[in-house]
Amino acid sequence: MAEERPSSLAVMTSGGDACGMNAAVRAVVRTAVHHGLPVHAIYEGYAGLVDGGDAIRPFESGDVGGILHLGGTVIGTARSKEFRERPGRRKAARNLIERGIDALAVIGGDGSLTGADLFRREWPDLLTELVDAGELSQEQADAHPVLRLVGLVGSIDNDMFGTDMTIGADTALHRITEAMDALHSTASSHQRSFVIEVMGRHCGYLALMSGLAAGANWAFIPERPAEAGTWAREMCDALAAGRAEGRRQNMVVVAEGAHDTDGTPITADRVKALLEEELGEDTRVTILGHVQRGGIPSAFDRNLGTMCGHEAVELLLRSAPDDEPQLIGIRENRVVHTPLMENVERTKQVAKVIHDGDYEQAMQMRGGSFRESWDTFHTLVQATPSDQPEGHRPLRLVILHSGGPAPGMNTAVRAAVRLAVDAGHEAFGATSGFEGLARGRIRELGWMDVSGWTAFGGAELGASRMIPDDEGLASIAAQIRDHRIDGLLMIGGFAGYRAAHALLEGRQQHPELAIPIVCLPASINNDLPGSELSVGADTALNAIVEDVDKIKQSAVAWHRCFVVETMGRDCGYLSLMSAMATGAERVYLPEEGVSLDSLLEDVDYLRSGFKSGKRLGLIVHGEGADPVYRSGFVRTLLEKEGRDLFDVRLAVLGHVQQGGSPSPFDRIQATRLARRCIDYLVEHHEQRASAMIGLQGGRVRFTPLASFPTLCETDAQRPREQTWMSLRPMARVMAHPGR
Ligand code: ADP
Repeated sequence: MAEERPSSLAVMTSGGDACGMNAAVRAVVRTAVHHGLPVHAIYEGYAGLVDGGDAIRPFESGDVGGILHLGGTVIGTARSKEFRERPGRRKAARNLIERGIDALAVIGGDGSLTGADLFRREWPDLLTELVDAGELSQEQADAHPVLRLVGLVGSIDNDMFGTDMTIGADTALHRITEAMDALHSTASSHQRSFVIEVMGRHCGYLALMSGLAAGANWAFIPERPAEAGTWAREMCDALAAGRAEGRRQNMVVVAEGAHDTDGTPITADRVKALLEEELGEDTRVTILGHVQRGGIPSAFDRNLGTMCGHEAVELLLRSAPDDEPQLIGIRENRVVHTPLMENVERTKQVAKVIHDGDYEQAMQMRGGSFRESWDTFHTLVQATPSDQPEGHRPLRLVILHSGGPAPGMNTAVRAAVRLAVDAGHEAFGATSGFEGLARGRIRELGWMDVSGWTAFGGAELGASRMIPDDEGLASIAAQIRDHRIDGLLMIGGFAGYRAAHALLEGRQQHPELAIPIVCLPASINNDLPGSELSVGADTALNAIVEDVDKIKQSAVAWHRCFVVETMGRDCGYLSLMSAMATGAERVYLPEEGVSLDSLLEDVDYLRSGFKSGKRLGLIVHGEGADPVYRSGFVRTLLEKEGRDLFDVRLAVLGHVQQGGSPSPFDRIQATRLARRCIDYLVEHHEQRASAMIGLQGGRVRFTPLASFPTLCETDAQRPREQTWMSLRPMARVMAHPGR
């Protein structure tokens, strides 16, 4: 009988490389070490598994240090013909048994996971063959009768069932969006057209989401093929109309697997020829190719890899040897596991459904938010709003910002304006938030007024932190009456929520304030109730991670410990997530505070670490972590106590965290939420209801604005419930697996 627990675990990466694979390998190794489970790394994918020898190496936690920021996979990946054949898999089984390995964590795409499952099913027979051939002893075979398997999806395509995001897809979106932003500016300077081909043979995720994020003007994806015979005319008309409205560039995204309803491929060259011949456009093609795979992993992919790798080992340890193998992924913002082969089968099914021409079914299988994104994209690419039926009464909707700037605010305004106008309503922007509204600084925003806003950081409309008092409420009420405002969309942070709530409370004295109000969370702090993730937080997190990567490089040469202070006010989200993504040893959060005991423990840890050869220390300190033991204090303390062993430097990252062009995720989320907010204002116009929108468990939900005060801490600016707090134990294991 097998023991309940595997004897030893091996981790490998296979198939196409993807950013975030290193984080997953690191997490598998460190979680195994934490539980005292021996762990090996297999180099070069299945090729290494078949070759054995030095390709299968025992790993300790130090072997996976300093790899989070590296692209691709440091343990290598390869395609292996030998593993596809049974003799190859027999060699692989022998290599594992000889090292006492009877559990495998495979990070790869559907091909790799299919191969792994076949190997697992054949395992008992392979062992019998090896014993019969005298290559293994019966005792060796008996000690490991079952191969346990767990799968993680590393793939840039985001094409796998069982997870909302595959490890590597977010980084690929970063690469594509950066490239498209760059092409946008040159296209616009020369009034050119660009056709951009992105990866995705069966999956339009990258094409659609990058098109949405970068404000492309047309897109082709495999799941929703363009109508044969008419698509060329349709695209040319739409792009010509955009030019007529004054658009300076055309950007068309083509997924590499795009085709029309007859199955004829739609290639970048074909689109270019059309634009040149039909529209006389000066057109260039850019095929992004392997650039999409590489570069520095995004913060999201690092943390996704970490969470999935950690759960893979936890699951192996708590499941029985004969349990069905599982695939680890995230669904609705939670790490989940579902039967591996069911997911692989369903993934293959989509490719088949597309091949068979059942496109409705293909869209269905991609899920609701994919379809919604496609619809939204199609509205946003129009050159002018749709016509409205006669008798349609337009609503007058005001959009404003309040609180600190958050990347993605402009993206949200652009989407809100276009979607409102397209639905036959009038959109207005109030300059400088509620202060501007009180003073009547309101201007109408038309379709082309928000052109290009998707990529702008900051807040074009301006913001303020004004929370209206009695006088302010009276002024705002008068403006709402004078401008006949029917609804208000506040895109901003805590101050904005408080101000919106003040308007709600002020309805009794000022009946004019009884209009529907909706708050869209936009704050790098991620400190808003009703939402697990606010717009801007992902960009800030990536900004922190980029800076800390550089800081770490500077520190290695000098035996230095860095204390990095991050923003976030009373909320530790940015601190914890950046600590996880950069491999910090310690993180101080406002939710936990800082105690003298913990500081002394850190001094001990750093002293003994540097004494035994450590070259770098990293502590992340949230700006609001403690009113007394502030980051400067921590630096001074460590400086004194570590004087003979290491240097200490403090890096206060400051406002770089609030700036910059929004990340693809923030752009997509801003667009998605803005769409729902406009729908809400229109639908709740009669009831005059008010709400806070947000992602909860990965879904868009509305929470009544009236509940704002009860959902927040009374003495701190953050929600009472914060789901990310549950990641703290895992973060500790990653930082100190041996403890
Ligand atoms: P991905 O995992 O990214 O889909 P591939 O399909 O190229 O990448 O698979 C990677 C490797 O997994 C292959 O080179 C092969 O060794 C192994 N593999 C894939 N499919 C199978 C299969 N059906 N049986 C055995 N091994 C397979």
